[in-house]
Amino acid sequence: MKCVAITGSASGIGAATCRRLEKAGTRIVGVDLGNADIIADLADPEEREGAISAIIDKSRGELDGVVLCAGLGPVSAPPKVIVGVNYFGAIELLDGLKDELSKKENTAAVCICSNSATTVPGIPDDVVAAMLEGKHDEALSLATDMDGSYAYAASKLALSRALRRRAPAWAEAGVRLNGIAPGAVQTPLLQAGLDDSMIGPAIREFPIPMGGFGEPEQIAASIAFLLGPDSSFCCGSILFADGGTDALVRPDSF
Ligand code: NAD
Repeated sequence: MKCVAITGSASGIGAATCRRLEKAGTRIVGVDLGNADIIADLADPEEREGAISAIIDKSRGELDGVVLCAGLGPVSAPPKVIVGVNYFGAIELLDGLKDELSKKENTAAVCICSNSATTVPGIPDDVVAAMLEGKHDEALSLATDMDGSYAYAASKLALSRALRRRAPAWAEAGVRLNGIAPGAVQTPLLQAGLDDSMIGPAIREFPIPMGGFGEPEQIAASIAFLLGPDSSFCCGSILFADGGTDALVRPDSF
């Protein structure tokens, strides 16, 4: 039986991924603020450390995969907390679990990024650089006065770059590292944005060529693909699962 650790396991995309993998016989070690095997607030550096130890403990030396899914939307929390959870809450767990993953064969990690990293114009460079340089306090301080939408997009841009920078060395350590960039997916995170009088209209107007929001199960299918043997030559890939928005906005990005 496989064992996969999933942050953000209690809701939305994380919960759909748990259901899909469990159905296939995978043992899940879920991490979330509540209703999970490991209760941890990933905004808190000490609780991130505790979550890493608890995942290693609960996976009993059998960790096959990690999915970094916990995240806060643009209106869910103050901007510095968005940066803390979406970037440091993902990357510190990723780095903390690398050695554990490299103990087994055919292991994989998947970060849940976002197409906001490529479709939101004018993401400030300084906060992205601070995240990538591991300057935790500086990144949170730079985010403090930012608009939530920019803090969100910046956290996802930094996460996308951080995973691509790591992927080659991770491959040498025997662990495939990839990401998914979802577009708008019908979850509580998206609903909070839709209900917001400032960003709700902008989300509704954002073009989705396939004609509607995605479902968490569609993203879970892409996550299962990147964890499993059918993606065995994928390394440092970021799979857009966004109904065609990125292709519409950036057709010539290659
Ligand atoms: P969701 O709100 O349904 O689930 C997010 C989960 O993360 C929740 O269970 C929540 O409790 C957990 N979480 C939040 N803060 C946490 C913290 N401090 N510590 C521990 N856990 C915490 O949202 P979702 O849409 O399923 O989001 C999953 C991931 O997908 C996020 O990283 C999000 O940024 C990303 N994403 C979502 C969309 C979308 O439209 N839904 C689009 C692009 C990317």
